[in-house]
Amino acid sequence: MWAEIDHAAIAHNVRVLRERAPQSDVMAVVKADAYGHGLLPVARTAVAAGASWLGVAQFGEAFALRDAGLTTPLLTWLSVPGADFAGVVRRDIDLSASAPWVLDEIAAAARAEGRTARVHLKVDTGLGRGGAFGAAWDDLVRHVRPLEAEGAVRVVGIWQHFAHADAPEHPTVLAQQERFFEAVAIAERAGCRPEVRHLANSAATLVHPSAHADLVRPGIAMYGLTPVPQVDDDFGLRPAMTVRARLALVKRLPAGQGISYGHAYVTDADTVVGLIPAGYADGIPRNATNVGPLLADGRRTAIAGRVCMDQVVVDLGPTSTAGAGDVVTLFGGAPGEPTAQDWADATDTISYEIVTRLGPRVPRLHL
Ligand code: PLP
Repeated sequence: MWAEIDHAAIAHNVRVLRERAPQSDVMAVVKADAYGHGLLPVARTAVAAGASWLGVAQFGEAFALRDAGLTTPLLTWLSVPGADFAGVVRRDIDLSASAPWVLDEIAAAARAEGRTARVHLKVDTGLGRGGAFGAAWDDLVRHVRPLEAEGAVRVVGIWQHFAHADAPEHPTVLAQQERFFEAVAIAERAGCRPEVRHLANSAATLVHPSAHADLVRPGIAMYGLTPVPQVDDDFGLRPAMTVRARLALVKRLPAGQGISYGHAYVTDADTVVGLIPAGYADGIPRNATNVGPLLADGRRTAIAGRVCMDQVVVDLGPTSTAGAGDVVTLFGGAPGEPTAQDWADATDTISYEIVTRLGPRVPRLHL
């Protein structure tokens, strides 16, 4: 099994997002190996297509980008006490801070490196995840000012994340937005001078223009997948990943034959089956058993029987003339091909999980 990554589609999607938010810069979110598409090649394509920032969750992802020579402004947003803050500051990577201890560790690293660390203060406007909530925001702002005065840190950004951006009419979107701009005002009254205020993931970039602010942070849409599958609009996005495999074996089985562990699928007639040499170790969800959609031998079909660690079986139908070596498509974007969203629907998850879970055994072919 392999994944074809269409870089023209990624560049196109970045341009679509820039057109949706023409007053804002775009931070390409390339965490989790660019949602499974390949960190470095995707980052390069996104920057070439006009993304002027990159965003990742973990320090290691940020280090990989800088160490590969990417000099684009870069934000990393998750840290634990004792993490390599000095390595981040040394590489001129922006950091997120949600609590005073983070600021203290950043400031200590900045002093040791003889540099000023670039910080984005994160406000919890209602997601209830990262960020400083309520009175803790005032504390965070009070805490950062002396560190700014000393030159150890500079507040470059203030930011937040939505809980319900994917539900276009949800009232919390506007409530979070209001709280965000109140939090910005508190910080500015205290003397912070952020260059970038940022709120919007893909869904907010596509459907909530009032949340665009200085910078938008799209992830999933850049990969051509809609963040709002319930909305009947593809926003002109083009899926960037196509996953295919070659059949390892094709054979005929009689009616009534159970297939794979537990015989979760039993042939209802004499039929031809094919063996796909990939399984849950490669990222095919185990609950795709009997439902994972496929395009095989020119027709839409599904995985037959239990998904195993390294293999799955497909029922090609009684008249199939397929042979070993024939190519089947798990998902892609061309007409007739199942999509990552189809896989998400079939396995009760979201397209994000379908693409990010593809394992390291699956080569990415960058086209
Ligand atoms: N911003 C933050 C903080 C995120 O965690 C994510 C991804 O989960 C994104 C932006 C991008 O979100 P999406 O892929 O929905 O555009």
